[in-house]
Amino acid sequence: MFVRQNFQNKNLWQESSKEHIAFKPLKTSVTTDIAIIGGGYTGCSAALFAANNGLSVSLIDKKIGYGGSGRNVGLVNAGLWLPPEKVEKILGVDAGSKLNKALAKTPDLVFDLIDKYDIKCSANRSGTLHCAHSQNGLKDIQKRYQQLSSRGAELELLDRQQTNQRIGSLKFFGALFNKSAGTINPLNYCIGLARAAQSKGANIYESTLATKIQSSNNYWLVDTPDGSIKTKKLLIATNAYQQPIKGIKSPEYTGVHYFQVATNPLPEKTSNMILPNGEGCWDTANVMSSFRLDEDNRFIVGGVGNLGHRASKIHTNWAKRKMESLFPQLKNTPIEYSWHGRIAMTGNHIPKIIKLGNNAYSVFGYSGRGIGPGTYFGKAITDCFLNGNEDSLPVTPVNQNKEHFSSIKSKIFELGATSSHLI
Ligand SMILES: Cc1cc2nc3c(=O)[nH]c(=O)nc-3n(C[C@H](O)[C@H](O)[C@H](O)COP(=O)(O)OP(=O)(O)OC[C@H]3O[C@@H](n4cnc5c(N)ncnc54)[C@H](O)[C@@H]3O)c2cc1C
Repeated sequence: MFVRQNFQNKNLWQESSKEHIAFKPLKTSVTTDIAIIGGGYTGCSAALFAANNGLSVSLIDKKIGYGGSGRNVGLVNAGLWLPPEKVEKILGVDAGSKLNKALAKTPDLVFDLIDKYDIKCSANRSGTLHCAHSQNGLKDIQKRYQQLSSRGAELELLDRQQTNQRIGSLKFFGALFNKSAGTINPLNYCIGLARAAQSKGANIYESTLATKIQSSNNYWLVDTPDGSIKTKKLLIATNAYQQPIKGIKSPEYTGVHYFQVATNPLPEKTSNMILPNGEGCWDTANVMSSFRLDEDNRFIVGGVGNLGHRASKIHTNWAKRKMESLFPQLKNTPIEYSWHGRIAMTGNHIPKIIKLGNNAYSVFGYSGRGIGPGTYFGKAITDCFLNGNEDSLPVTPVNQNKEHFSSIKSKIFELGATSSHLI
């Protein structure tokens, strides 16, 4: 029977935040070694590594973690969402294996930063499970297991019984377990990176958007409503959330929405039977879904979909049914949180570095896998600014990235997800 829900549109990560810090707006004109537009993982990681290396840094955003970094699932996974062979096929073996290698150890990078700067983001390094939702899904994870293991990843391929025991659900055909991965409160990780960057001397400004960027005499000038930044090095890290900036083209990508809903903390006797080891999970379905518990044993389930349109109840009703089909003991458990975010999907699902001019880059397009990659790309851009060598970047910078029919593709993704969530 359909149970009427009072879904309140609120983001669990904001509501349960344990990192509390606010940054003042920029109200003056400053000169800095590096200006960073956007305070997600990419921008905050770049700010931290730059400040640690003695560069003066000014980072601006409306709010730290306002974009994907404050809205995501919190699965800290290795590599990209694409299997490694596909990455090598798209980029060529040399460039592809360079990117695969760079991103293979990103969970170490993320969890080391969390430890080093005591970031309060409920880090749980119990691994993640890529769950086979069908026989075809099982073939997919078997292929991934072979490809990743042959490149040195330490993974376990779990059979149906092992998977079901580990998850506490009878729904899956097997799973790929990566014990080096884990889960975090994604917003708190981002705020923690900003706090760490500030502690190393970076100037972070909130309530401050870049409105115009121009270059003049080897400098970049960034205008904001009440101030400006003069800089030699510029990083634009706005991913799927860029607010219009005159003088700079917006990143081109296909926007794909992903939403999540969460319960209140479950009683111990219920939560004990769900993911007792605390892994984060996502599945092999074309219209992907994810589920996990948070630190307080709230159950969180997500799927492709936008909660911002009239038919969005289709998504939240599906989430409720999904939760109950995975874990029948959750029947009639009320949903207390619901929120969504926009993913910047590129045509080939590979992140892009656009060279905007001398010492200026725009980085975007993580295609749904940005916690480790964003942290890594932010660090790599800083290394490139320091050593002047673009070879240290994980992908070769290009002058532009064309995404054709992106708004039609966005609508097709949403329509596909909505139709599949009707069933
Ligand atoms: C719902 C969802 C689930 C996801 N799940 C996962 C997951 O489980 N694991 C994973 O690895 N990845 C996941 N991702 C992907 C990941 O969240 C993103 O790739 C990552 O957050 C991108 O970080 P970023 O710093 O590049 O951009 P963002 O975090 O999007 O930051 C961009 C920032 O730029 C700011 N900005 C925009 N315009 C301006 C301007 N003019 N001036 C100043 N600032 C500006 C925005 O306010 C924003 O804060 C998910 C993404 C979404 C949306």
